[in-house]
This record gives sequence, C-alpha cells and structure tokens, in this order.
Amino acid sequence: AISLRNVHLSLGTGAARVHILKGIDLDIVQGHSVGIIGPSGSGKSTLLMVMAGLERADSGTVRVAGTDLTGLSEDDLARFRGQHVGIVFQSFHLIPNMTALENVAVPLELAGEAHAFERAKDELAAVGLGERATHYPAQLSGGEQQRVAMARALVTQPDILIADEPTGNLDESTGSTIIDLMFEAQERRGTTLVLVTHDRTLAERCTTSVRIHSGFIDGDPIIRAPHAAAGH
Ligand code: ATP
Ligand code: MG
Repeated sequence: AISLRNVHLSLGTGAARVHILKGIDLDIVQGHSVGIIGPSGSGKSTLLMVMAGLERADSGTVRVAGTDLTGLSEDDLARFRGQHVGIVFQSFHLIPNMTALENVAVPLELAGEAHAFERAKDELAAVGLGERATHYPAQLSGGEQQRVAMARALVTQPDILIADEPTGNLDESTGSTIIDLMFEAQERRGTTLVLVTHDRTLAERCTTSVRIHSGFIDGDPIIRAPHAAAGH
C-alpha cells in the first residue's frame, strides 16, 4: 500500500529552486493500480521518485509497503528500495556491458541473494525472453530491452512496481505487450502498480486514476472496482 499525506518537495538550488510537489495526498491499496496523468512538468516523475524512496519529501508523510520513509537514513532507504520497489523507466536504463541475464540478476546480487542467476533466468523466461539471456542490450529491440527491465524490476518480488512512461519509446503494439505484462504482474503477484502515462485510456485501466497539475492532484482520484481478474 502507499499513503501520501500533504507531501511537499522542492528541487534545485538558489534561483533555480522549484517547488514541485505542493501538498500531495494519495492512498493506494496494496495490489491495486494507479494511473497518473498530467501535463509535462506537472511533477509526475518527481512524485514517483518520492514513492520509490529516491527523493525525500521536504514535509508531509510518505508510507510505502508499511514503511514510513520520512525518517529513514540513506542506508535504510537503499535497503527499502532493494526489498520493496521495482522501477521501470521510459528509456530502459539497462547496463550496456552486461547481458540480459546479468542485468536481471543485479538486484539479487546487490541484496546478496543466493541463486541469483537461476532466479534471474526464471524471471527472464516469465517475460518471454528465455532465449535472449546472453544478448547484450544493444542486440535487443526496444521492446525486448523493456522486458528485460521489467524482469529486473520484478525479480526481487517487490511490493510496488513503479513505471514512468514505460511505453514512451515503443510502438503501440510493443507497448501494449509491456503494459499487459505489468497488469499481469500486478494481478498475479499482488504487486501495487504505479504507472505514469500520457495515455488516458491506459490510466483508466487502473483501479485508481489521478491527474496531476502543477504539483497538485487535480480533482478527486477516480477509483474503480478492482480488475475483472479479481474474479478468478
Ligand atoms: P514530463 O511529462 O515531461 O515527464 P513530469 O510531470 O514528469 O513531466 P517532473 O519531471 O516531475 O515533471 O518535473 C516537474 C518540474 O520540476 C519541472 O518543471 C522540472 O523542470 C522541475 N524539476 C525536476 N527535477 C528538478 C531538479 N532536480 N531541479 C530543479 N527542478 C527540477
Ligand atoms: Mg516525467
């Protein structure tokens, strides 16, 4: 679950300092999904950084997966990210001199987990890339690279999967494969999915959708019944 209360954040220094998040309140039930839309520069990516524990709020409360992030030390924040959060970006962010399999194994190795490569192999297979394990990112298509990034984000079984315009660099049909994988992970594993997108229809597939406008949540969040898959 995610619970934000009156979250404020400014970034930059001196004259370049910008008040970005101006009192964000948001609650997401564990296993639900939230689609975040809003104009460029409205603070969507910054909000994701706060939820991921990559930026610290200046004030307000940030609770993610049962942890109050507000008072954590840097070490504890890093540990929190490693245990609870998976992130996927628009531009994949794979490590170029590592194979697909090595990329997926990174979070497990960082956490000192046993059998990192076996687990990474299973996760790659789950995104349909079992046959591409020894390929380097440059030898993969954009859609394949994003699937590797998904496998890397999910390999630690995070409580929260955060995705910042994950299909922004992909064509429509490749993008929809990635989105289907995300919703599948959300439904099958009970992961909370937080998705920033420019696609309103996609935001409406989520259990909650919110619009951000210049650092505020614009109107009330729209909350829908959980996905049809809840019935199986
Ligand atoms: P987009 O849809 O274009 O990705 P966004 O909604 O994700 O936009 P953010 O990246 O969260 O927007 O940025 C919000 C505002 O904060 C922008 O005006 C941006 O220039 C500013 N900003 C972001 N990061 C910093 C920073 N480190 N220092 C100063 N200003 C920043
Ligand atoms: Mg952004």
